[in-house]
Amino acid sequence: MSNGRRPLIAGNWKMHKTVAEAEAFVAALLPRVATADAVDVAICPSFLSLGAMVDSARGSRVEVYAQNVHYEDAGAFTGEVSPQMLSELDVHGAIVGHSERRELFGETDRALQLKVPKLLDAGLKPLLCVGETEAEREAGDTERKLRHQIGEDLERVPEELLGEVVIAYEPIWAIGTGLVATPEQAQEACAFVRALVGSRSEEAAQRVRILYGGSVKPDNAAELLALPDVDGALVGGASLEAESFAAIVAAAG
Ligand code: PEP
Repeated sequence: MSNGRRPLIAGNWKMHKTVAEAEAFVAALLPRVATADAVDVAICPSFLSLGAMVDSARGSRVEVYAQNVHYEDAGAFTGEVSPQMLSELDVHGAIVGHSERRELFGETDRALQLKVPKLLDAGLKPLLCVGETEAEREAGDTERKLRHQIGEDLERVPEELLGEVVIAYEPIWAIGTGLVATPEQAQEACAFVRALVGSRSEEAAQRVRILYGGSVKPDNAAELLALPDVDGALVGGASLEAESFAAIVAAAG
């Protein structure tokens, strides 16, 4: 890309796909994305499928991310998974701060402040999700919300590592609803997120990849991915079928 940022298309499977279903998906996906040389591709399966997906995708262009992580290496945290445990499996990174985790499971900015640098320390790529609710957008609070989330969640990331973080701008009203941000809304918000990173480090702002997420489908992907501050997409529903996910990857190339 002329701006030097490689597009990333990441598929968030949420709580979908057994290991067998995940294996079938990756077998169907790999030949479909084999020639997408200019695009980074990631799938984000459940914790239980991570090992199998890393093995099946090894040697291909497809990376494997977890959907969450804890910020401690080990301890009395029932039900949690540590960065070390992900690294041991050769997982590449983890989504953190998805709106479903924030809304349904009490994920806080305070925890994200610890998770993001911890992932970087462990050599894992953080994919941090931010975005406003419908009520916040209607109240004119989108920028305030993004400023708060980016400020808090990245506070402990040193300037020289800020550019390594991937940020997904996901307006909550567009996730799983079929409602898509207009190109103007997506560009404006992603440019604002980049400017927020730029207030810490201009060099990081030029390097940081900012994805759009929210009902991305094969038929709207090209328009969104062509926006100057959109460096890829975080895809939910349309990442569950190899054909539609590969079509979005093709739209990024
Ligand atoms: C998501 O889960 O991050 C997402 C963007 O979902 P969908 O594409 O289904 O809106």
